[in-house]
Amino acid sequence: MGRKIGSRYTANQILGRGSAGTVWLGEGPEGPVAIKLLREDLASDQELVGRFVQERTALLGLEHPNIVSVRDLVVDGNDLALVMDLVRGTDLRTRLDRDRRLAPEAAVAIVADVADGLAAAHAAGVVHRDVKPENVLLDMQGPLGPGGAHPALLTDFGVAKLIDTPRRTRATKIIGTPDYLAPEIVEGLPPRAAVDIYALATVLYELLAGFTPFGGGHPGAVLRRHVTETVAPLPGIPDELWQLIVQCLAKAPASRLRASELGARLRELLPLIAGMPPLDVDEPDVEPAEEAEEAPAAVRAGEPARRRGAVPLVPGAKPADSNRDTHTSMRVPGPDELAGGARGTARVPRAAGAPRPGSARHRAVTRRRRIALGAGAVALVAAVGVGTWWATSGDGAGATPQDPKHSAPVSP
Ligand code: ADP
Ligand code: MG
Repeated sequence: MGRKIGSRYTANQILGRGSAGTVWLGEGPEGPVAIKLLREDLASDQELVGRFVQERTALLGLEHPNIVSVRDLVVDGNDLALVMDLVRGTDLRTRLDRDRRLAPEAAVAIVADVADGLAAAHAAGVVHRDVKPENVLLDMQGPLGPGGAHPALLTDFGVAKLIDTPRRTRATKIIGTPDYLAPEIVEGLPPRAAVDIYALATVLYELLAGFTPFGGGHPGAVLRRHVTETVAPLPGIPDELWQLIVQCLAKAPASRLRASELGARLRELLPLIAGMPPLDVDEPDVEPAEEAEEAPAAVRAGEPARRRGAVPLVPGAKPADSNRDTHTSMRVPGPDELAGGARGTARVPRAAGAPRPGSARHRAVTRRRRIALGAGAVALVAAVGVGTWWATSGDGAGATPQDPKHSAPVSP
């Protein structure tokens, strides 16, 4: 006795909750399906429903072994639902939370799968726009691949595009993930296929390192790092693999590989990294001493220095899936973070065993650098101001501080 969705489907049991709604295990005429029932406020938005129906053909047309196919779109009374292929397994975020880092072979196999899925989507003119571990599902019933990795499927195609308009964003405070945002999006350019490559390279780095290259701290600081900072090398990573990551994290979209190339190049690397253990990298964390100086009392008192995962781009927005580790509360950025200064906002990974920031030796160096930084203090104040405005303005959630009207360009 499940809940009826349209005339053909029944939703029986909750599989998971996401930011856009609840995913149910359901039953359709052709067997079990996954049904994503969109949040009520989204479902009651006439404009959104209209676009949903408009996009129907494009969404339903995507078929690939590494894409979670959308089988049907149901608009029924107050319900707005996406009927998808059921994937029996887990999402990549859950896997990452459990294992912290993956062996390079498994990481590469998973990312190569996603690249293949993206290649098919890009060939059909569809840009995903929200590639992140939460949107990669691992099919535990599929055959084991290299490194013991299950087949990976990309899900949530078109959902970001449908939901993310300036008006929507302002009205409902959609949560975004700044860690995976390509620099051209931060700068207000329309998201083309290359934004998915940047996001996927970020995922690959994260699978190998246990943290994203530019994440951590205040969302404004994260956005700025995407535009200005270069990625710090991971100790022990094979050079060929590192070069691929660097190329796909290029600031210039045209310099990145295409999805099909990326998939092929990654698969070529598999024999080279077969059997390699996870990289021995320590997560760069906030220096306890500096944290105490700079952090607001609330952060100092309770929260450990969390530098991982995503933050709401709109202040006050409650993450719908706050039970997950992908959202942290916002924190006032330290001057060093915004300046890209003493503490190294690009999160330079340390080889395991290297002196930890905060040690006496490290602190002495840091002090000296801080004095030098004093000269830039005026510029910093400006930067803090811009960053804060950016993160707090109603239009800042998606893309363009310069021109909010263009913050949700839709065509690929
Ligand atoms: P949102 O994108 O709205 O945040 P998700 O798509 O991440 O929501 O879905 C939330 C959870 O539901 C996922 O973490 C996953 O566990 C489960 N889920 C989503 N899609 C499927 C699917 N096709 N098959 C099985 N489980 C799914
Ligand atoms: Mg999702």
